[in-house]
Amino acid sequence: MGRAGDAEEPTGARLRRLGADLHLHTVASPCAEIDMLPPLIVERALDLGLGLLAVTDHNTACNAGAVQRAAQGTGLCVWAGLEVQTREEAHVVCLFEDLEAALDWQARVYAALPPLANRPEVFGAQWMVDHRGDYVRTNERLLLTSTALAVEEVVEGVAALGGVTIAAHVDRPSYSLLASLGFVPEGLDLAALEVSARGVRCPPPQARGWPLVSSSDAHRLEEMRVGMFLEVAEPTLAELRMALGGRGGRRVLLSPSRTD
Ligand SMILES: [Zn+2]
Ligand SMILES: [Zn+2]
Repeated sequence: MGRAGDAEEPTGARLRRLGADLHLHTVASPCAEIDMLPPLIVERALDLGLGLLAVTDHNTACNAGAVQRAAQGTGLCVWAGLEVQTREEAHVVCLFEDLEAALDWQARVYAALPPLANRPEVFGAQWMVDHRGDYVRTNERLLLTSTALAVEEVVEGVAALGGVTIAAHVDRPSYSLLASLGFVPEGLDLAALEVSARGVRCPPPQARGWPLVSSSDAHRLEEMRVGMFLEVAEPTLAELRMALGGRGGRRVLLSPSRTD
């Protein structure tokens, strides 16, 4: 933690191959299934052989800490994150190593959401749970909507807190940067673009030149998968940046293991 920037590129560090999933929902997301509970997510991640997981609910990090606690002592590293919907209706995965930074960013996101209540009968329930998966309370905000934040504000705001941003599911026809804008804005400091398993085999032409990641975007346990491996010294954002840049021997290996 606290290793922002990648000025130091240690050579000779022992690298390991980590199965990684950097986009996953819990029961805080109204569209997620009831089985997306911290202990079940951790159990499924371990069964799949994942070593790194990021919890990225829609416009909230309210269950990230519970999943981190559920993973304590298991060897699974859990990053806290959010999937922010920009005012352009593009989804951006925001990743942080520590919960505090994610909650700082969550406060910014909440302030940029319209002051409306969720309608669970329309969108689904939004539950905050503890590390055992027990109900704590309902998140009353309307989360499944656009914030007032422009994509540039999201990328810069997350970077200012030491985090990393990835454009979500760019090969999907809705709520993606390419679907909304048709291109990646020049100079946008995203760490990578995320594609589905199909997108690994056939990335969109606008993704040329960008590092790619492939995550599950799981809304139910059975959708979790190992979409990629990171060859890194340790599961840190600095190492992820190195892997995405192919520096210091680090790399990302995409695994088009499933059609979707
Ligand atoms: Zn999305
Ligand atoms: Zn998602």
